Amino acid sequence: MLTCPKCGSEYGYDDGTSYNCPECGHIWTDLSLENAKVKDSVGNELQNGDDVIITVDTKLGKDILKRGTKAKGIRILDEEYNGHDIDGKVDKFGSIYLKSSIVKKL
Ligand SMILES: [Zn+2]
Repeated sequence: MLTCPKCGSEYGYDDGTSYNCPECGHIWTDLSLENAKVKDSVGNELQNGDDVIITVDTKLGKDILKRGTKAKGIRILDEEYNGHDIDGKVDKFGSIYLKSSIVKKL
């Protein structure tokens, strides 16, 4: 059984060239799954709950998030928000939006 990445149905099946979901009609492949992964600046796959550090100084309103700042318990966003694809908790700032391309998994 294959889990549909779109609707979560467990009745996905392999027809030899791609995977199909009988419940929502979604069709996917290993390649599309690979492309859908959220990766950090060095290519590690990121998952909900990971801790990361920020790899470049980043503007946050009037403040600067310094390179090396830790963001804890990240969450992968379902949809990108202003080019940001994850959020995480940073001391003194709380939960903020981040880009996976400027973080590194700890
Ligand atoms: Zn589905």
